[in-house]
Amino acid sequence: MILLDGKELASKIKAEIAKEVAEMIDNGQRAPHLAAVLVGENPASQTYVASKEKNSREVGIISSVYRYPETIKEKELLEVVDFLNLDHDVDGFIVQLPLPKHINEQKIIERISPSKDVDGFHPENLGRMMLGIPTLLPATPMGILTLLERYQIETAGKHCVVLGRSHIVGTPVSILLSRKASPGNCTVTLCHSFTGNIPGITREADILIVAMGRKHFVTREMVKKGAVVIDVGMHRITDDSKKSGFRLTGDVDFDQVAGKCSYITPVPGGVGPMTIVSLLQNTLKAGTTGQADKRTSGQADKR
Ligand code: NAP
Repeated sequence: MILLDGKELASKIKAEIAKEVAEMIDNGQRAPHLAAVLVGENPASQTYVASKEKNSREVGIISSVYRYPETIKEKELLEVVDFLNLDHDVDGFIVQLPLPKHINEQKIIERISPSKDVDGFHPENLGRMMLGIPTLLPATPMGILTLLERYQIETAGKHCVVLGRSHIVGTPVSILLSRKASPGNCTVTLCHSFTGNIPGITREADILIVAMGRKHFVTREMVKKGAVVIDVGMHRITDDSKKSGFRLTGDVDFDQVAGKCSYITPVPGGVGPMTIVSLLQNTLKAGTTGQADKRTSGQADKR
């Protein structure tokens, strides 16, 4: 069994990004700028945004965070999005989800300029993804593809089973792996809460991607010998031996399943770091494209 070490791969890719950022600066451009909008005090959201800030700085990407209280009105948040869309010094930004219940998340996502949508959640970017047109891809599916690609795991002709059909992970990764591309050319089965006999389906998987949000759902008897298993799930479990008081675990029962796989991602240190590094890659892409467009057309927001 080979561990798909997302932490190690992410640091390798970060070194590549840092080199490209340094080259941009040497060529008289400014470093790409990633902004994050954080609403409220959700601890998980605060941790994610702090991590995005830290990782951006490590590669020379400019990072800024716009913080607002839980009580911000939808209209005010839309104005923040409009402001960032027009700010020529910001190449890409994310609005950290989830948002408070009184704010319509989809409305906020649709207001983000597709060329600055480094989370890749805008319908225009998702549509381009579906059609195989180059675009900003959603970060977690992109990180999964990068893992498969860099570990040189053959996907063509393989049966890929995806558990979970969220808009941010399951559905886009199932589309990406079924595209006529590399990685891709898989036969994909996408499972959700209406799917019957999930263990029977997962046992047929050459590649199993699990994004359900169900702790240790995937057990040994659900996995085919030699399968590639990618665990997206992330759960905090109490652990008094840790300084933080918790540790992370996934949707796959790693200890049971690992010995049966050809490749498997750990949690933590698998898909998580790949998601963050994909966000940095998207920011670099948005920065490079945006600054080139400004030079040729004088507009900030043209692709
Ligand atoms: P989500 O929006 O919570 O959706 C869960 C999906 O799993 C839904 O499609 C649901 O089916 C399906 N599902 C849930 N229970 C099921 C069951 N018992 N049988 C069959 N299907 C079931 O998922 P998400 O946002 O993609 O997140 C999934 C997990 O990944 C979470 O643990 C999250 O924290 C983690 N995550 C990690 C990263 C990372 O960077 N590592 C990024 C994003 C998410 P229905 O559609 O029918 O309800």
